Amino acid sequence: MYHWLRDHRRKKILTEPFPLVWRTILGEKVRHYSFLNADEKHRLEQLLQVFVAEKTFIGCNGLEMVDEIRVVIAADACMLILGLPHNLYGKLETILVYPSTVVVPPPKAGVFTQSPLFERSETPISGQAFINGPVILVWDEVKRESRHPETGHNVVYHEFAHYLDMLDGRADGTPELRSREQYRMWAEVFAAEFLALRRKLKAGEKTFFDSYGATNEAEFFAVATEYFFDQPVKMQKNHKALYDVLAGFYQQDTAERERRSRKNSHGGV
Ligand SMILES: [Zn+2]
Repeated sequence: MYHWLRDHRRKKILTEPFPLVWRTILGEKVRHYSFLNADEKHRLEQLLQVFVAEKTFIGCNGLEMVDEIRVVIAADACMLILGLPHNLYGKLETILVYPSTVVVPPPKAGVFTQSPLFERSETPISGQAFINGPVILVWDEVKRESRHPETGHNVVYHEFAHYLDMLDGRADGTPELRSREQYRMWAEVFAAEFLALRRKLKAGEKTFFDSYGATNEAEFFAVATEYFFDQPVKMQKNHKALYDVLAGFYQQDTAERERRSRKNSHGGV
């Protein structure tokens, strides 16, 4: 679509007031929303409003598509691009939502050959992302994890991190970055952390990150993203270099956000 036409349509979408019932859903079902300051909430709501209007959400296996599902998924997806250019999800058209964990049938051959992450659908999955879409999600897991960041798991963050990673055509754990220096730091820090995770798991040691991150570099970036938004204070304490690289990429200081919100909820300043 021509940019001016798209921009015009988005402006029109944003002239609509943000539905109050959606704000209630955000407050009750998306824990991270309550950590945002007023400006961030406003930006997230705008991103979300456009996301819900532009994407097609399809309920699969009998799941009835309702606003609660659209809003929670859109909020988690847009949380990743709160500090990034809006158009990163521009080409994504469809989000398929299953009620609970499924074995997803193989997509058509063209998509198959383009998705190195395809092998996961041989086993039951809770989510999947393809280079040219769709993104597949499982609602009961999305719902639980959006309310409980303390688990360190969020399948929407995970799959949309894959989507961002694949925007440059490769699922290699390195999304498109802004400078050579950023690429250099990224490679250095991610390689060290990824190998350390593998080493620790092999030695039977306890790890901060879920062992699934040791599968390959793409999974490591997706898993690290989950912790960056779900457990930022702990991540910054345990894996500061990796936290800093992700904060530079996402342009968000999630640890500071979590600390601020904890202070406020305890009546401090
Ligand atoms: Zn994955």
